[in-house]
Amino acid sequence: MTFIQKEIYNYINGEFVSSSLGRTFENMNPYTNEIINHVHEGAEEDINLAVKAAKEAFENGPWRSLKLNDRLKYLYEIAIKIEENAEEIAFLESVDTGLPIKQTRKMAKRAAENFRFYCEMVKNRMVGEAYKVDDEFINYTLHKPVGVAGLITPWNAPFMLETWKIAPALATGNTCILKPAEWSPLTANKLAEIINDVGLPKGVFNVVHGFGEIAGAALVAHEDVQMISFTGETKTGSEIMKNGADTMKRFSMELGGKSPIIVFDDANFERAVDACIWGIFSFNGERCTANSRLFLQEGIKDKFIDALKERVENITIGNPLDNETELGPLIHKEHLNNVQKYLTIAEQEGAEIVSPLLPKGCEKGNFVPPTLLLNVKNEMTVAQEEIFGPVLSIITFKNEEEVIRMANDVKYGLAGYVWTQDIQRGHRIASQVEAGMIWVNSQNVRDLRTPFGGAKYSGIGREGGHYGFEFYTEMQVIHVAVADVKIPQFGKKKLQ
Ligand code: NAD
Repeated sequence: MTFIQKEIYNYINGEFVSSSLGRTFENMNPYTNEIINHVHEGAEEDINLAVKAAKEAFENGPWRSLKLNDRLKYLYEIAIKIEENAEEIAFLESVDTGLPIKQTRKMAKRAAENFRFYCEMVKNRMVGEAYKVDDEFINYTLHKPVGVAGLITPWNAPFMLETWKIAPALATGNTCILKPAEWSPLTANKLAEIINDVGLPKGVFNVVHGFGEIAGAALVAHEDVQMISFTGETKTGSEIMKNGADTMKRFSMELGGKSPIIVFDDANFERAVDACIWGIFSFNGERCTANSRLFLQEGIKDKFIDALKERVENITIGNPLDNETELGPLIHKEHLNNVQKYLTIAEQEGAEIVSPLLPKGCEKGNFVPPTLLLNVKNEMTVAQEEIFGPVLSIITFKNEEEVIRMANDVKYGLAGYVWTQDIQRGHRIASQVEAGMIWVNSQNVRDLRTPFGGAKYSGIGREGGHYGFEFYTEMQVIHVAVADVKIPQFGKKKLQ
């Protein structure tokens, strides 16, 4: 049994420190609704201290001036330690978030890969380009770190998403402050312990726990923070961009989604059912790329819905720490209320709700059973708004034209999934869906080299691949005269 410490501290300038407010908040277990531990609540003063430390480490510390390989040695070491601690990280993540342990184990390993991937990426990309313009000029470009990065992250898949930002930020030579979500502080704290053990120079990496409107807002408004990488809800992203405008922040925004899965009559039936079930009910449905709107072509509608009904009856619901569990409790009582509110709206708008009863043992947790919503029309609230729970809205369509219109008639554009055995149609539909990422005959598998992010209200910019790299670097061009080039004469005429 992993030991969970009673209090979680902020990590500032290489030390675990108490909140400047002298205040803590409760961290809840979503399966039992008991208090796990207390977290030191960061506020403006804590953010100021963390930014001061990060700025000092960036400007005067050894970080930026380290040889690239020496800097990356630290990050490879972090990856190794994440792997060594993967079981504990998975345990903490599941206790904190309710995500099934089978899934958090995979995410812990992926987090280690994030560090390795960005080390390799930086080796290849932190080289500029040189141009011989003509006999008079040579130009070259440099990729330089930007400065202090503010990283603000959500509670779904917290560890994975945090490392996804920290790895490129540090690999490129920036220093950073992580503001993790208030509902999932455990693995951010574990990462601070790992980074502390690795001996990263003081101030390079800092964690300030606390609430978004207080600690998060102070980070966004701080004039010595040059950029904010944010993952979370669209309305929070919009608020952050407004608050960061006065200090000219650069932003990376990974926001909400309401992604379609389009299944044509000719789809491989079994595989499409598998993908649809996994895509909406894995990670408790708390997944930005969840396929929360199912568009079914009329010819297979009845058979497909029957198969879905059978599968939801058989999903293993329960304790997130149980190896067999496929669906755990939602992160927090407040989020449970939100999801339940959508089920009430679904009923009021005329949808039919199909879901199994919860098994014994789920009484205290924030459980929503895997839920199918039938008779949904695309204009209904449950087809337009992100529910962020295990709820699938099912809509039928007749032809390509109709399904493209409905799939795109939504404000989000994060992901999409297309199932057909007609190769031409697969490509045709994929390119017409307004979304940053489309999978054809596949579920959400991703190579780290590819861009991750959304169109429309789902985000600005891309993470992953070299796209993530570009966000964390400032490009500079240097023009060098290699001959005595002609300089226009100005104010000299009268002197002659
Ligand atoms: P959220 O927007 O409520 O919170 C995210 C983070 O922002 C938290 O750390 C929070 O404390 C902070 N925050 C809140 N208000 C703030 C403010 N005014 N200033 C600064 N920081 C503030 O999101 P959530 O509920 O934690 O996460 C779920 C959302 O995240 C969903 O909408 C989901 O789709 C989205 N998400 C998107 C992606 C993606 O890659 N596109 C990935 C995961 C999650």
